[in-house]
Amino acid sequence: MSEITVSCAGCGKRYKGPPSTRKFKCGGCANLFTFPDGERKAPAGRTLCSFCWIEVPLHDELKACPNCNQKVMSGLGGASAVSSGLSPATPSEGHNAELQGALAASAQQREELLAVVQQLEARVAELESALAVTTTERDQAQANLSQLKDAAVAALEPLSLDYNRVMKQLIVETEELLSQARLTRQEADERMNAIEGLGARLSDHVKVVRRDMATRLSGILGTDAELTPLPTPRDAVLLDGNRQNNAG
Ligand SMILES: [Zn+2]
Ligand SMILES: [Zn+2]
Repeated sequence: MSEITVSCAGCGKRYKGPPSTRKFKCGGCANLFTFPDGERKAPAGRTLCSFCWIEVPLHDELKACPNCNQKVMSGLGGASAVSSGLSPATPSEGHNAELQGALAASAQQREELLAVVQQLEARVAELESALAVTTTERDQAQANLSQLKDAAVAALEPLSLDYNRVMKQLIVETEELLSQARLTRQEADERMNAIEGLGARLSDHVKVVRRDMATRLSGILGTDAELTPLPTPRDAVLLDGNRQNNAG
């Protein structure tokens, strides 16, 4: 049985099958088409509907067959030929139904996938914007922290310098005070020693003078004169008072 090759007037897709009055739906553009009983070819200036196979005059705005309203594009047009052994698509009725089902299922899956992809894209955009906010906040926090650190270092540095300077000064002053205290004590000790030495020397001198006086007195008086104790400063005042009284 000879087979006919048909090209869809709506999209140009080619199908192969036996001549038949059955309707087939184009898998490419959903146009309905039939397999005529032989070769069909449009004359110049006309094209063919691949469903009802009437000749349609070509014009720029041609979109559908005026007879059956199936798609007829001016650049394409339907055509049919007795199969030359080349093997375009073979839409047997069962196969065609199966193909249609598969296409519909695939179209539905595609829709579903598109919806999922759109949801994912929306979620990704959301996450990206959240990430951008988080990143900005983190950068801001880092910048703030770094500023605080710089400020702390800037504030502490002079404080630390001041502390060191004051401590050094305190140490120097303490050393000076200590050495002054040592010096003063040493001087006091030396003065005390000098006074004590002087006292001792005076005491010795007094003893020498007394002995000398006693010797001279005994020389004059010829006796061992009892040397009266030296007058105390208090007695001296009294004697002085008596002398004044005698004079008066
Ligand atoms: Zn088509
Ligand atoms: Zn038609």
